[in-house]
Amino acid sequence: MHRAELARHLQTSRATITNTVTGLLERGMVEPEGLSADIAAGEGKAPLKEKLVLARRAGIIGAAIHQDDTTIVGLGELDGRVISTRALPCSPDATGRERISTALAALRELLDELPAPHPQLHGLHVAPNTLVNRHTGEVLGGATSRRWSEINIRDEYEEGLGTAVVLENLARHAAYAQYGALESPPPRNLLHVSLSFGVALGQVLDGRIISGAHGGAGELGHVSIDSNGPVCRCSNRGCLFTYAGADTVLEECRIVTGTPLSLDEAIDLALAGDDRVVSIFSRAGAAVGMALNSVCNLLDPDLILIGGHLSRAGDVILDPLRDALFRNALPLFGRDLRIEPAVTLSDQALVHASLRALRLDVDLAAAVLAAHDPAAVAIS
Ligand SMILES: [Zn+2]
Repeated sequence: MHRAELARHLQTSRATITNTVTGLLERGMVEPEGLSADIAAGEGKAPLKEKLVLARRAGIIGAAIHQDDTTIVGLGELDGRVISTRALPCSPDATGRERISTALAALRELLDELPAPHPQLHGLHVAPNTLVNRHTGEVLGGATSRRWSEINIRDEYEEGLGTAVVLENLARHAAYAQYGALESPPPRNLLHVSLSFGVALGQVLDGRIISGAHGGAGELGHVSIDSNGPVCRCSNRGCLFTYAGADTVLEECRIVTGTPLSLDEAIDLALAGDDRVVSIFSRAGAAVGMALNSVCNLLDPDLILIGGHLSRAGDVILDPLRDALFRNALPLFGRDLRIEPAVTLSDQALVHASLRALRLDVDLAAAVLAAHDPAAVAIS
């Protein structure tokens, strides 16, 4: 923003903004956008229409994203601009403790790459691929979260980096990242469904991530669609997960083809039109559509994006999903609802989503004002 925009936004006089901005420039807290040699921060003046941004000296924020097979970390400016990212492959069987250790080491490396002294880290957004109480950091979910058991995610990161931590599970993070990648105007209510070895839902309503009271909102995979269905590892019967999870799809493919297949091999057979495999993906898609019908009655989305590994099957899974969802759709949500494939996002876009999400939960202005010391140095 430039000073005239700031004055309008804050509904105050330009003179007041000029005085405030001059003070912030002198302290090196803000600087002209695209700072160059001829415009030195601290000079004390900025033309009225010159765009100002928060200076790195005011601090930075970070992100850690724990996907099933990759750990992505990143650092960014307080206003959400990404400074750096790093992606590290990880075994799907890696424990939570191993994943956090990897992420902390990578974050420290990124911090060390910044010119010394390090700006203060004012917050870290963490997206783990497990059920977690986003306020306490406690991992819940029993057998469904066994790789993360016996660890408190918040405590590990807070002790590791000495900064505020915001937790949001991977499904909701993915939804928020997809939301940020959409062209304007954004949908009013977005649902993002990830179909893989789990079935996860993230919801962004009116631009806000809906997490629930504890962070448990969106456990679509454990919504029962048949009370007499197979027993799920959560101990309920007929969970969507037992119909549309990749393990179920692969087991059914093994039975009909007589050969154990990888998920990519099964998807390739479906895309090639193998009737036996197509019918398996079709049943999985229909099951997801049936479960989403209830979700739509509750949340009235205008866009549903389908992502995750299984979504590579495209219309083989999307068409039966749409059919099952719209067959019983009420007109008010069904008439304008769009169901589309999610897009593949870059590490940069995923980290950017984390930084934006952190800003929803942490009062960064207060953190900067409370912590700012012109001689502030490293946190590592
Ligand atoms: Zn279940």
